[in-house]
Amino acid sequence: MTENTTTQLIQEVVDYLIETDTNELASWGEKRTEWLKQGGEQLKGIDKIISGDLRIKRDNGEIATYPAFRVQHNNACGYYKGGIRFSTGVNKAEVETLAMLMTLKNALHDLPYGGGKGGVHIDVRKHSDRELKEVSQAFVRLVQNDIGPYRDIPAPDVGSGAKLMDWMTQEYKNLHPNQPYINTFTGKSLENGGTKGRSESTGIGTFLSYYYLVDTVLDDTLTVDANYRDEREMIKSIGEKAEVKVAIQGFGNLSRAAAIEAEKADRKHTVIAVSDSRATIYNEEGLDVEGLAAFKEETDRLPNADELKEMNSGGDILEPEAVLTLACDVLILGAIEDQVTEKNQKDIKADILVEGANGPVTKEADEYLTAQGKVIIPDILANAGGVTVSYFEWIQGFTNEIKGKDEILKDMSNRMKSVSQRIYRQHFSSEHKESLRFLCFKLAVIRLVDTMKRSGDII
Ligand code: GLU
Repeated sequence: MTENTTTQLIQEVVDYLIETDTNELASWGEKRTEWLKQGGEQLKGIDKIISGDLRIKRDNGEIATYPAFRVQHNNACGYYKGGIRFSTGVNKAEVETLAMLMTLKNALHDLPYGGGKGGVHIDVRKHSDRELKEVSQAFVRLVQNDIGPYRDIPAPDVGSGAKLMDWMTQEYKNLHPNQPYINTFTGKSLENGGTKGRSESTGIGTFLSYYYLVDTVLDDTLTVDANYRDEREMIKSIGEKAEVKVAIQGFGNLSRAAAIEAEKADRKHTVIAVSDSRATIYNEEGLDVEGLAAFKEETDRLPNADELKEMNSGGDILEPEAVLTLACDVLILGAIEDQVTEKNQKDIKADILVEGANGPVTKEADEYLTAQGKVIIPDILANAGGVTVSYFEWIQGFTNEIKGKDEILKDMSNRMKSVSQRIYRQHFSSEHKESLRFLCFKLAVIRLVDTMKRSGDII
């Protein structure tokens, strides 16, 4: 496996835990260092990679090939779990990193899963439904012997959704009619064994991870170490504003749901910008989020200048990357990785950045912005709403008990609330100055290594 920022951070966490006397690890006794070393090495490695070229006949009669991967990173804490990405950014290294993030995310959120990720290198916009269906089926044929409800449970990710999960489930059912196919994939359509609320869950959870941060600091009983007083003051002042301005990168499933949730929140939030790969739509006074969401759902794009004029709020059309550097309080990153980098870090004006996407802030930018007093809610904490509802769908597949959307989203929000508030409280009371990302990685690594030592994986 290639060295990447995720493996680097795992190593930094392991080194830190070895060097520092942490209360959490007091009960581990003298084998602590050895376990941490061995566990860290396992986490930097990959259990298994299934890869191959998917071949289909295109509508024009040509034969086309698409590199495809399923990375099973680690299953110490449960069955491999994670989405399948359909995008031109897909390559082996990217899928490996994303699979690692799934392992850490599932461990951090106490879900009974390990981590995996899939990817197909394809431009979905340039393919018909028939072609996408064939690619999805070919993907299942490639991985069929490595997936299943008690082995590896894929789900949607960037560029894939319920439609693809339904096709994949059907292909798996055709290939393995005696297997419990229904729970081999999550993120399916409602009609096909999915759960209500799955498509909105990641975006809602992302917004809530920020909202609960503010809730935590507004609670006067919070213990705050001297290290974190300035940070607490900054967040508190956002919590006390009459109106919090939010900019959101992206306007796919995740960002739309986050925008709608922001506008519904008890404290007033105004969404001033959203974007896609072609443009940013900006109105300092606030956008017509519902109108834009309806437009995007119907046309799969954002409105052009003329169409925008006809909408309730209007707004200006700016360059796609303009969304990142607008004056606002909160920036939700709901697109793809590597968006806030050394190139634009100095221009970021938001005080709180929330990683809805996986890896949108690079390691360098994270360190720079944290040193500037900004707070970044990391992906493995912020965007777990989707996999949490996937977990509910997986349970539903066993029990056949169908729950209502409100109940599902409430259950997801409650889980997000208890996990994030526990982490935030620990963060503010810590005597060590560390970023939220470092803390989240640390908690996930401790949980994983603890499980490995209990199961005798490391001795
Ligand atoms: N692709 C989503 C993620 O990155 C969801 C994974 C799942 O539901 O298994 O968390």
